[in-house]
Amino acid sequence: MEKNYCTKCGECCKKIAVDFSKNIVYRDGIQTLSDNFKKILIKGEQKDNITFCSCKYLENNLCINPDKPEECNNYPSSPFAFLPENCGYYGVNFLEREKFMQKLRKLEEEIIHYEALINCSSKDDAKQYTKIIEKHKNYINKYKMYF
Ligand code: SF4
Ligand code: SF4
Repeated sequence: MEKNYCTKCGECCKKIAVDFSKNIVYRDGIQTLSDNFKKILIKGEQKDNITFCSCKYLENNLCINPDKPEECNNYPSSPFAFLPENCGYYGVNFLEREKFMQKLRKLEEEIIHYEALINCSSKDDAKQYTKIIEKHKNYINKYKMYF
């Protein structure tokens, strides 16, 4: 995110949801758990496949890691970031997510539009429209896990 809204509460480093069975971390959206990130985690409470972890580099709510993993440098960067309650980014992240959802809804509308055009178009145009539809659907599908 462009501006720094961090109030340095440290909450985002205390209860990081990780699915070790799928190698997934639910923090800045849904990310693959990298080796660098895995090694800073302290496992805590477990619920089904999710283990809530804290970070061994959090001291008095501040990060003391001189070599933060990539995942921490830009957090939160995704409009689908999982933010603790009272995180300073909550409002701005909500707006970003809304903007992103509008973009997805526009793509869905375009899909409907091109699907309607296909039936009354030349073979070449129909091929073009089909390509656009495929591209839009692939893009939308990348974010399906958040809905
Ligand atoms: S939860 Fe939000 S405000 Fe608190 S340390 Fe993390 S990014 Fe900063
Ligand atoms: S390295 Fe720092 S920013 Fe990253 S999770 Fe640990 S305490 Fe938080």
